[in-house]
Order: sequence, then C-alpha cells, then structure tokens
Amino acid sequence: MKLIELAQVYRARRAIAGRVTRTPLIPALSLSDARTEVRLKLETTQPTGAFKLRGAVNALANLTAEQRDRGVVCASTGNHGRALAWAARQLGVQATICMSALVPDNKVEAIRRLGADIRIHGNSQDEAQKLVAELVTLQEMVEIPPFDHADIIAGQGTIGLEILEEWPEVDTLIVGLSGGGLLSGVALAAKAIKPGIRVIGVSPARGAAMAASLDSGQPVEVEELATLADSLGGGIGLHNRFTFAHVRKLMDEYVLLEEIEIARSMRHLYREEQLVVEGAGALGAALLLEPARRSALAERLGQRIAIIVSGRNVDMDSFTAVVDGTHKVWTTPSVDK
Ligand SMILES: *Cc1c(COP(=O)(O)O)cnc(C)c1O
Repeated sequence: MKLIELAQVYRARRAIAGRVTRTPLIPALSLSDARTEVRLKLETTQPTGAFKLRGAVNALANLTAEQRDRGVVCASTGNHGRALAWAARQLGVQATICMSALVPDNKVEAIRRLGADIRIHGNSQDEAQKLVAELVTLQEMVEIPPFDHADIIAGQGTIGLEILEEWPEVDTLIVGLSGGGLLSGVALAAKAIKPGIRVIGVSPARGAAMAASLDSGQPVEVEELATLADSLGGGIGLHNRFTFAHVRKLMDEYVLLEEIEIARSMRHLYREEQLVVEGAGALGAALLLEPARRSALAERLGQRIAIIVSGRNVDMDSFTAVVDGTHKVWTTPSVDK
C-alpha cells in the first residue's frame, strides 16, 4: 500500500487554516527532569475540545458540491462526531452522527447542540457502524469515517507539522492510539521532516485493537470494554485500508496502560498542570508518570518529548470523581475474574 505523503499534510494545513486552532505547545515542568524536557501539545484548546476537528474539516473541504448536498454521516464515540457536526455546520452541510449506547451523555448532547441528526444504535462502535452503512446505501449519504481515510489522516498530521516547526529539537512523540488516524498522520509528517524521530503509541490495555492487530499481523477484532479513555473504544475495521499499514510502518513501539495509570494521569494533569483532560488525552502523560514505564523505555524515550494531549471532553461529574479518587477503576481482562 502507498502511504500518504507529506504534501497531502501541507495541503490539509491550507484547507483547515482559519477554521482550526493552531494549538499551543507548552512546557510541562511537572513531567520534566534534569535530563528530559517534556512539552504538551494542547489539542484540548480546539473549539470542539479535541484534535478530531483537523481531519473532519479537511475531509469536508475536499468534498465536491454534489457530495456536500447528499449530507455526511459517521459513527463516532463522540469526538469525531462532534468535530464532523461542527465542521458540517460551518460549511452548511447536513451531518448525521451514529453512536452506540456506550457513548457518554455529555458527548451526545454536545453533538445535538451543534445541529446534527443523532442516531443511537447498538452497544458498540461496530454496531453503530452498521447503521452508517445502511444510510450510505439507502440514503446516499457520504461517509466520513473517524480514522481510516486519507483526508482524516492528513488533517491529523498537521499536528506533527506544528510540533516540528515550533520545536525542531524534539526527538520523541507520544501519541494516543485507537483507530490510528492520529498516529498515522502525525508520524508520517514528523518522520518525513525528521526521519530519526521516535513515535510511541499509547493505548488503554482494555480493548487495544490496534495492538492486537499488529501482534497478529492483520486487523483483528477485540472485545470493546469500558475504559476511562472512552474516546478510544472500537476496532480498527477488519477491512482497514490505511491506518493499519501506516501504524505498522511508522510507529516505533506501543505501550498499553492500566486504568489506574490513566486515572493518575488525569489527576496529575489537573493538579500539577491545571488542565482538564479526558482519559484518552491523559495517556501520554501516564506513560511518563510511572517510573517503571520510564525505565523500561530507558534511552528509547529520548530527551525532548512532545506529548499530544488529545482531548478534554469528559463528563465533569466523572472527572471530579477521578480526581477525588472515587471513580470506578476497571481492571484489565487478564486480571478480571
Ligand atoms: C480519537 C481520539 C484519539 C485516538 O485517535 P485515533 O485516530 O482513533 O487513533 C485519542 N484521543 C482522543 C481524545 C480522541 O478523540
């Protein structure tokens, strides 16, 4: 398979300029030490609270007038749906967002407020996806998937351009990984500009579909489980077209994190960096917070580390419970009896 090229990421940047925020890259002293400098790329400051806006705006900008008239549709655990709804409203396109019943209410409501048509279907992202297929076939809507699409990957890749322009010395990127649109785009842009840069993917141990697929050498399904990183639910698609190949080629390694580490990281980012971050957005910092993880990575971690803090869309009651240490913390399947 031919990988997406850097030129497509530059084109995406022109397409999204003015509609999407160029987010700050801030030093994180609480995660840095004498040897290591850590900076946080705050995608939490996007208007919809997560980076997904980049890909969604780019994908819509690339539609023909005829495709826009048909309306767009997607299945989303929340942040992509929210981004697509926001982008569609800006461009005067009708958006239909299909979600499973697992998606938290705050995310559903936020999308409804953006004027999108909401459909709740089934108990997994994959079931919501079946409804999308139906709407594409029966009502000729245009599907804009959350990750496995060239324009989505190129849009997310603009984060990589911004980080490298602002901090050319960066040697390691830590990137949250689910379907792999974010990591594919960021890694391809970063490695095209700076081939020696390391890209580490982080996923929750609960339901890490990309990791299981890489281990099997082909896309596989895993059971979808509740996790604090609820934006990361869902598989990579058994007929994955782009992200599996990109991640396999471009990611140096991945690390799976326990729920308790994600909770600790949310708490840390709040108390020490004054940031409200959802579970998925806290994965990168979680990797650095655990001394055993840091020493396991040792030299491979590098000395100038940029972490993508990918989103802030967490229900605030759950968030305060996590920060107070009263939230339920799930254990991994291997530990569950
Ligand atoms: C979607 C999402 C991710 C993961 O992105 P993929 O492209 O699916 O790998 C990470 N963090 C947040 C907040 C997200 O919404």
